[in-house]
Amino acid sequence: MIPFLELRPAYLELKPEIDAAVARVLDSGWYILGPEVEAFEAEWAAFCGADHAVGVANGLDALTLALRALDVGPGDEVIVPSNTYIATWLAVSAVGARIVPVEPDPATHNLDPGRIAEAITPATKVILPVHLYGQPVDLDPILTLARAHDIFVVEDAAQAHGAVYKGKRIGSHGDLVCWSFYPGKNLGAVGDAGAVTTNRTDLAERLQALRNYGSTQKYVNDEQGVNSRLDPIQAAVLRVKLTRLEEWTARRHAIAAIYTEGLADTGLILPHVPEWADPAWHLYVVRSPDRDELQARLTAAGIGSLIHYPIPPHMQTAYAGLGMDPDTMPLARQLASEVLSLPMGPHLSSDDARRVVEPLK
Ligand SMILES: *Cc1c(COP(=O)(O)O)cnc(C)c1O
Repeated sequence: MIPFLELRPAYLELKPEIDAAVARVLDSGWYILGPEVEAFEAEWAAFCGADHAVGVANGLDALTLALRALDVGPGDEVIVPSNTYIATWLAVSAVGARIVPVEPDPATHNLDPGRIAEAITPATKVILPVHLYGQPVDLDPILTLARAHDIFVVEDAAQAHGAVYKGKRIGSHGDLVCWSFYPGKNLGAVGDAGAVTTNRTDLAERLQALRNYGSTQKYVNDEQGVNSRLDPIQAAVLRVKLTRLEEWTARRHAIAAIYTEGLADTGLILPHVPEWADPAWHLYVVRSPDRDELQARLTAAGIGSLIHYPIPPHMQTAYAGLGMDPDTMPLARQLASEVLSLPMGPHLSSDDARRVVEPLK
């Protein structure tokens, strides 16, 4: 059996260090925010090449609070991909803004700058690209559009830890960059965790208040914030795992290379990596009109696979209220029926990766 992803090997590889880190927090007697969270924030900001990181409770809160920090609300429009995990859309709904979905470039699965330009209106306040599957979005044309129209760029980088765009790591290209450290992400906690990185000191300070009841000083509340603080135990575990992120990303690259070489002549549509992109390889996603049959073959061979994502947000019952016809986003709909994610993770062996390829030939 080759599972899609196993989380336990990462813990076992680092068990003495992780156990010590958790014990350090327990021993410290400091259980909310404090030095462990601040240390992780500094280390994560440095890794991303950003001036600031603000730890929050999860990736969805990172997105929601990022929009709140930019005062996005009712009457504002936010451009999002039509093919993303539903969290991207939920953050926009949570602040009461209007979701404006834009179809992807089918080659990269990422937002198509040409289509973004057509979707901009005087009400557009934010463009929210998602580095889907860990493939960096082509940010330069998006940043140029945003500057020309005086709108913000908030990146959903929940799948892009360590991804590089034109020589610079994702983390500070847009105004705010949102991270999830959900256990299955490339940098994963042992529970929920998230962060926002930015070069803007004013926005970092606003986020520090928003995540902590809108307070910058104990019992003084400047605005109606929420409780979405990064847990110090999660921060301590993340600090240990961060020391391995580069090595683990290199392993993901090696597995992707095995897949790309092994699947070259199968007729499957393989991930397209532009020359300026250095992906984080959160997922290795192939496309085929015979996706269900391929997945059945993998299952029969004892190989796990997943679909990211089987139902696009505009076709979810949660968004029935938008009254969108399924065919208004034909690419999102088609991709949902054709994509298949192969096993991927830093602890998948090269031999197992070669075994994954066999039933797909
Ligand atoms: C995982 C993920 C999120 C949400 O992260 P949580 O920590 O689970 O809230 C948001 N966007 C994308 C693209 C994701 O993959």
